[in-house]
Amino acid sequence: MRPGSQLAGSPATAVSRTAATVARSLNLSAVDVKTGPRGEIPVNPQLNSTNKRIWAAGDVTGHHEFVYVAAAHGTLAVENAFNHAGRDVDYRHLPRVTFTSPALAAVGMTDRQANEAGIRCECRVLPLEYVPRALVNRDTRGFINIVANADTRRILGITAVAQDAGEQAAAGVYILAAGMTVDQLAGLWSPYLTMAEGLKIAAQSYTTDISKLGKDRHFVEQPVEDVAVL
Ligand SMILES: Cc1cc2nc3c(=O)[nH]c(=O)nc-3n(C[C@H](O)[C@H](O)[C@H](O)COP(=O)(O)OP(=O)(O)OC[C@H]3O[C@@H](n4cnc5c(N)ncnc54)[C@H](O)[C@@H]3O)c2cc1C
Repeated sequence: MRPGSQLAGSPATAVSRTAATVARSLNLSAVDVKTGPRGEIPVNPQLNSTNKRIWAAGDVTGHHEFVYVAAAHGTLAVENAFNHAGRDVDYRHLPRVTFTSPALAAVGMTDRQANEAGIRCECRVLPLEYVPRALVNRDTRGFINIVANADTRRILGITAVAQDAGEQAAAGVYILAAGMTVDQLAGLWSPYLTMAEGLKIAAQSYTTDISKLGKDRHFVEQPVEDVAVL
């Protein structure tokens, strides 16, 4: 695929990767460490392989392939192996980012995952044309999606498609870890002219017709050249 070419209208195809356990002939079976079909080393939640004295960490486990997962695995494997900490990997608030243009990022549940878990959810999708920073950036491709529990209004997941969607997912980690409701998020401070403000506006859309929000409407109609950033 040429740089800059578009994936619009067709599903992205991920390049499959294989763990080096097979290619480099580590002969893991000799130490009772089983491998999976892609050479990965299956582990339990404490990162133990099938040999209880051997732990695995990072991509080789076949888990999410991210630098921060590998780093967290490394710490946890050492604590479990040497300090007998007995800790499990916790993926509940793991941010997932695909660095395309625009990027795709998510944390927590999608609406489908919430439905599959039997949770009655209420979702809002905020097109980026309602985010002032996106207008200033002249890049309104994308959206912010909030999935909330319809009964408690607690936020279950955030998905963003935006130029810097990873930043939204990073903020989403804190929102989910704090157990916030959409009403709490909508009432928090958020600096004007940041992409993160989109999270607050998306939360406001649960109770407000955001197309009628005075400041933002005024901003939409104002020529970008006339805007001074203080
Ligand atoms: C193109 C690309 C872009 C990516 N971008 C991102 C990103 O933006 N953000 C993000 O979070 N993640 C990204 N990732 C994923 C991230 O790089 C991996 O998840 C992460 O590096 C995994 O770390 P690791 O230590 O498990 O494995 P690795 O980083 O692959 O390290 C394994 C090391 O073990 C060595 N090794 C293998 N076999 C042997 C052997 N027999 N003896 C000795 N040494 C051996 C290898 O040479 C290598 O140095 C990207 C991956 C790719 C391929």
